[in-house]
Amino acid sequence: MSDRVYNFSAGPSMLPLSVLEQAASEMTNYRGSGMSVMEMTHRGKIYQAIFDEVKADLRRVMSVPESHEILFMQGGATFQFAAVPLNLMGENGTADYAVTGNFAKLAAKEAKKYGNVNIVASTEETNNTTIPTQDELKLSDNASYFYYCANNTIYGTEWNYVPETKAPIVCDMSSNILSKPVDVSKFGVLYAGVQKNMAPAGMAVVIIDKALAGKELPYTPTIMNYKTMIDKDSMYNTPPCYTIYMLGLTLKWVEENGGVAGMEKLRNERSSMLYNFLDESKLFKGAAEKAARSGMNVTFRTGNEELDALFVKEATAKGFANLKGHRNTGGMRASIYNAMPVEGVKALVDFMKEFEAKNG
Ligand SMILES: *Cc1c(COP(=O)(O)O)cnc(C)c1O
Repeated sequence: MSDRVYNFSAGPSMLPLSVLEQAASEMTNYRGSGMSVMEMTHRGKIYQAIFDEVKADLRRVMSVPESHEILFMQGGATFQFAAVPLNLMGENGTADYAVTGNFAKLAAKEAKKYGNVNIVASTEETNNTTIPTQDELKLSDNASYFYYCANNTIYGTEWNYVPETKAPIVCDMSSNILSKPVDVSKFGVLYAGVQKNMAPAGMAVVIIDKALAGKELPYTPTIMNYKTMIDKDSMYNTPPCYTIYMLGLTLKWVEENGGVAGMEKLRNERSSMLYNFLDESKLFKGAAEKAARSGMNVTFRTGNEELDALFVKEATAKGFANLKGHRNTGGMRASIYNAMPVEGVKALVDFMKEFEAKNG
């Protein structure tokens, strides 16, 4: 452990050490099979058992109701920016999009290729430091679906409520899935690229109300078709076998640590430690409005670009990796997903205090 750093990367990001160690111990010979999970056929009994268990574990951990199917799809979260409108928009359809950051903006732009996009709210005017209230959403009457991004990874803002809409809700939860309990029954489709809080990159988990499948536009690529993926249990082609196995190890870890309720407790501990410090600091300032603060990505700055750069440099040397903010925002960002130990955040805050004492 001593040679590992506290990695504050926004993604791909930290995985629990015990998960990595278990993967390492099973790497060359998975439980007496004589081969690695990455070497075995996805059509065999051993892999099918892994796959079924991961799905069952995810269903239990997230309390996914029987009305919803769990899919594992390649192409990360960005693949879903196209898959969502292709499957749900309908011919000459309209979809409502709340644009509260870069990823929602990219999703809305992609959706425009396939139908009408109604921007129900945009936080561009506040530099995406805010989240709209329910009253501020200018919802349309005839939307095929309402789309939002639950946690804005780049700007460090997070929706603390699920909007109420007539249309089915589609939600990008890439950067806050498994960090707190979610009522899955409220969502038509929720999805997450797995590299923030679940597994190595290369896949999205998609949880879909089965009643919404089968309405895809006629030119929808087969590989993007939710109905096909449901019918083939995510094995229309070779699934990302090893990533799914890794997700399984992470889910066991989540359950051992109190499930999503346990994750929420840890999340609150980590984020309040950082935000409390930012609120009393004379040097560092939180970037997001208080009411919109993310429990996963904490954005902050000193207000002086040279000092920001010095901070990132000195932090890196002390073993706090990847604190530089996104190129769109500048400043700093500490991504504190499930696998970040509370001690990592405590050590970071101690270092920030030291830095402030020297440079404040
Ligand atoms: C990282 C991220 C994405 C992009 O994920 P890819 O897997 O690279 O496509 C999309 N949405 C959110 C909220 C993210 O955090």
